[in-house]
Amino acid sequence: MLEGLFGEEDLTSSRISEPSKPGIQSPPRPRYQCGLAGISNQGATCYLNSLLQTLLYTPEFRESLFDLTEDELGSFDSKDIAGKKVRVIPLQLQKLFSRLLLSDQQSISTTELTDSFGWNNREELQQHDVQELNRILFSAVEASLVGTSGKDLINRLYHGTLVNQIICSVCGKVSEREEDYLDLTLTVAGNNSLEEALFGSFVDMENMDGKNQYKCESCNKLVNAKKGAKLRSLPEILSISFLRFSFDYQKMERYKEAGRLVFPHTIDMAPYCEQADLSSEYELFSVVIHKGGAYGGHYHAFIKDVDSLGKWTHPDEEPIQLPTDPSTGEVDYIEVDSPVELIQAILVRNPVLTIDKLCAEISKQTGVSWNKRFRKNFGSIVKFLEKHHDVFVLDSGCNQVSLGNSTKVKADKKENSPTTTAEPRNKRPQSPTPMPGQAWFNFDDSRVSPIREKEIEKQYQGKESAYMLFYRRKKLTRPKEAEGNPAYKVPDNLVTDIIIENDELSRKRQEYEIEVNTITVQIHFSQSYEYYSGALHPRPDQCGWMELTIDRRKTIADLKIAITELGGELVPEIFVIQRMKELPAGHHLYEFLSGEDSKQIKDVTIDDGTMLFIWNGHLVNETTVPSGQEYEPILLNISYGNDQLFIRGFSKSLTLEEFKVIVSEETRIRTKDLRLKRIVNQDTNPKLIDFSSDLLDTTLETLRLKNGDEIIAENKSKLPKIEAVVWIVKPYH
Ligand SMILES: [Zn+2]
Repeated sequence: MLEGLFGEEDLTSSRISEPSKPGIQSPPRPRYQCGLAGISNQGATCYLNSLLQTLLYTPEFRESLFDLTEDELGSFDSKDIAGKKVRVIPLQLQKLFSRLLLSDQQSISTTELTDSFGWNNREELQQHDVQELNRILFSAVEASLVGTSGKDLINRLYHGTLVNQIICSVCGKVSEREEDYLDLTLTVAGNNSLEEALFGSFVDMENMDGKNQYKCESCNKLVNAKKGAKLRSLPEILSISFLRFSFDYQKMERYKEAGRLVFPHTIDMAPYCEQADLSSEYELFSVVIHKGGAYGGHYHAFIKDVDSLGKWTHPDEEPIQLPTDPSTGEVDYIEVDSPVELIQAILVRNPVLTIDKLCAEISKQTGVSWNKRFRKNFGSIVKFLEKHHDVFVLDSGCNQVSLGNSTKVKADKKENSPTTTAEPRNKRPQSPTPMPGQAWFNFDDSRVSPIREKEIEKQYQGKESAYMLFYRRKKLTRPKEAEGNPAYKVPDNLVTDIIIENDELSRKRQEYEIEVNTITVQIHFSQSYEYYSGALHPRPDQCGWMELTIDRRKTIADLKIAITELGGELVPEIFVIQRMKELPAGHHLYEFLSGEDSKQIKDVTIDDGTMLFIWNGHLVNETTVPSGQEYEPILLNISYGNDQLFIRGFSKSLTLEEFKVIVSEETRIRTKDLRLKRIVNQDTNPKLIDFSSDLLDTTLETLRLKNGDEIIAENKSKLPKIEAVVWIVKPYH
């Protein structure tokens, strides 16, 4: 039934072309290489996302939720039927969880779920912090399940009891007050480890004496006593939250407790219990992390993939996830293959950056710094930029980096194909791939990426540190059928919905790929052209050019076949395809595009509207035609005689001497009498400058002549004599 839902192909081809044409909206991106979906951030919901992912990856919670049938919950379809109770919250949770497990999208939205909670705007979401939200979420789920088989779902998994005790030192009477808990709240200040914090709360007893004496009911007087608490019963899933936010009454402000608090992967809770519990051992499976200060900040979660639903790759080999342009609305992530591509993509958005700014951007965009992620394999960033001088221009004077010219065009197009293939990685000992069910992933809103288990140790302290911990009872085991099977226990109707949704997504992506990749190019045949005045010109008696529509993922060989079919007799038996551009002086040919038959059309940057010239590569109407930038024609205005003017193109490779010969022919001024002047500063302060005779070997390009420049051709033999007289006379005054 699930065949094709997550075929290997779907997982590996998690890429979508960037639009080459404006105005085409891309469909949602497929899953990351790791195969796990994120939750899109609707603004200030990152704590909700961390919590929801934790619940999803708590197999016992997820499966209990999926066990609830439509009979009990009602269905969205029956929402409007009078008298029919529809339990929207569990239905929305089921829907969200099944989509997170099975829908082939990079991230899933929680809008429908938050709507079902009645949280319709940012303010309502921002009111709660993650601990509160945990309780609110649980009580909302609990309330919505009253009267169903799931009514004790929350209690069964999360509920424990503790007992507060006061022991009279005189008569020994123990007075007790039992308390329920869904999570344990522990102080960070003064504790070095989770065990120490638990010991302080559930082993240590406080003396009640002096002014704090206790009124014993048996003794009926104030007595010395001991006060403390013990855990009476333990839940299947143990949630622990840390009091990391405190209030400083002297400064009258909230502050974050950034001190170090170590927590273990497995913990035995027996020492903190009233009575020994046979299965008091727990295993850590989720760490909700708060990053930032006392006001605001960001939450993400490290979660263990207990059922091996994701594909863990070594974090260094994981594609780099780079957010798409945030200005387009909802942020999602593009995967890039190499650090070259990463830096290119950053420089396309910020054309010039200092090295420091570039490093900051890398950290900001990818969530991990250069030194952490790349230094081991690629060296320092400066060395790396220097090594790739073909791509990057590093100005060591002002410490700035920009894209080299040759790569600008390519990078602007945001091509998917890597410009440089991924570097060979140094073989070095790596931490081993985790055992099944032991892999950890970082769930950071819409971004999900594999992490090494030892990353967790970095969350013991600091601005970015563990805020909530979730442990599972060690004795909880998983059935073999659940391993690697995201559809395990998902109700059939939801699976069916998602199969339809995925088919639709895949159809949309295919359509999008076709739409984005379909280009129309202009095919120009050499029969329609003549070469003169340094450029190709269409012959007035010819039909002009033809349009060809083709998918740019096809190869050059495909393009050649299409051209042959289109042009028929106009196409020489052996032909080359050259890029042509229209310049002010006429048409000009550039690089050969037909060199490698196996190349994809998009890889030789043939785009919508590109002009392609089809010819035998030697002659156009028996004339040789130069091609390439150095032979580009420029259009010059040449005035001579009495207000006479001619305008024509000249190859910019001509020397001044060759240029003079042509001007002489056109103006009928003999070359020995021809004097050429150019007008400079035409707009501000026009001046006439002579071309001195020692420039005769210089090309028009070197003379910096450009389209539209004015040249004055004078006939020396016809110049008024008076000027010369003045010059001769002057020295005698
Ligand atoms: Zn007593």
